[in-house]
Amino acid sequence: MSTLSATLLDGRPLAARLRADVAALVQSLAPHQPAPPTLATLLVGENSGGAAYVGQIARRCAEVGVRHLARHLVPPTTDHALCAEIQQLAHDPSVHAILLQHPVPAPLDRRAAFEAIPLAKDVDAVSSAALGRVILGLPAWLPNTPAGILRLLDAYGITLEGLHAVVLGRSPILGRPMASLLINRHATVTLCHSHTRNLDELVRAADLVIAAVGRPRFVQGSWLKPGAIVIDAGYNPGHVGDVDFQAACLRAAAITPVPGGVGPLTIAVLLEQTVRAAAQQLGVTLPC
Ligand code: NAP
Repeated sequence: MSTLSATLLDGRPLAARLRADVAALVQSLAPHQPAPPTLATLLVGENSGGAAYVGQIARRCAEVGVRHLARHLVPPTTDHALCAEIQQLAHDPSVHAILLQHPVPAPLDRRAAFEAIPLAKDVDAVSSAALGRVILGLPAWLPNTPAGILRLLDAYGITLEGLHAVVLGRSPILGRPMASLLINRHATVTLCHSHTRNLDELVRAADLVIAAVGRPRFVQGSWLKPGAIVIDAGYNPGHVGDVDFQAACLRAAAITPVPGGVGPLTIAVLLEQTVRAAAQQLGVTLPC
């Protein structure tokens, strides 16, 4: 009988360390600014998943000393009302970071809403200006989930240079910036999507697989090259990832669990970037 031999890439202890570092950064900022760094989240419509995520953000903000300002636009709402809300947050000097929870329900213009977030407060890199800077490797706040994945790979000493990475999913918040961050770290990247042919063959050639498709247990264990590193960014109902975890463990050298892999790092990166954005807006230099 086969045994599970893959190393578990556990995001929880790393995220806890990162949150402790963020709490220390908040303390370093305090002498310069009595009001705490502030993250505004904006939820649009009835979205139970989004509301739960905002609840988690609120809890983590309280733990590290970040002020959380929760805004919720209830339907019916308009593009004008949504952009006005974002612009009000953009012009409020006591708000340092803005996170617009997605999905923004149709028929609202999600892209227009993202574009209303100014670069300095765009801590998830959702505007085209921020994403362009990420792609070019210029200084910018990074999209939280891809940045968290890089933190995890780095923490486990995985060298990206020269690896063949296959990224499944090309969304602007996850797959697409993930591919760019990997290219900027000198990996060779194949970016796949719903029109990709022979997906299993492409995955079989990968040293590193990043799954971000939003389909439960989509990536089969048999698709993996023995010894591959597998990052499962997926989070589907029932706390199930995008990779068939049990089968993948039989072939992968290392794999993230769901939950407990990528997810905890996403919020930790969001908190860190919020505090650094506050410092930048206040002209304070924080330790790296
Ligand atoms: P999304 O916007 O729905 O994008 C899904 C991507 O997967 C699209 O690019 C789509 O291709 C591709 N895709 C769908 N079916 C496919 C198939 N059969 N073969 C190949 N590609 C396929 O989703 P997302 O927002 O990027 O999220 C992806 C997953 O990550 C979800 O499970 C989500 O819950 C999870 N997530 C986790 C975190 C975290 O913190 N852990 C954060 C964000 C998202 P097309 O472009 O061709 O449609």
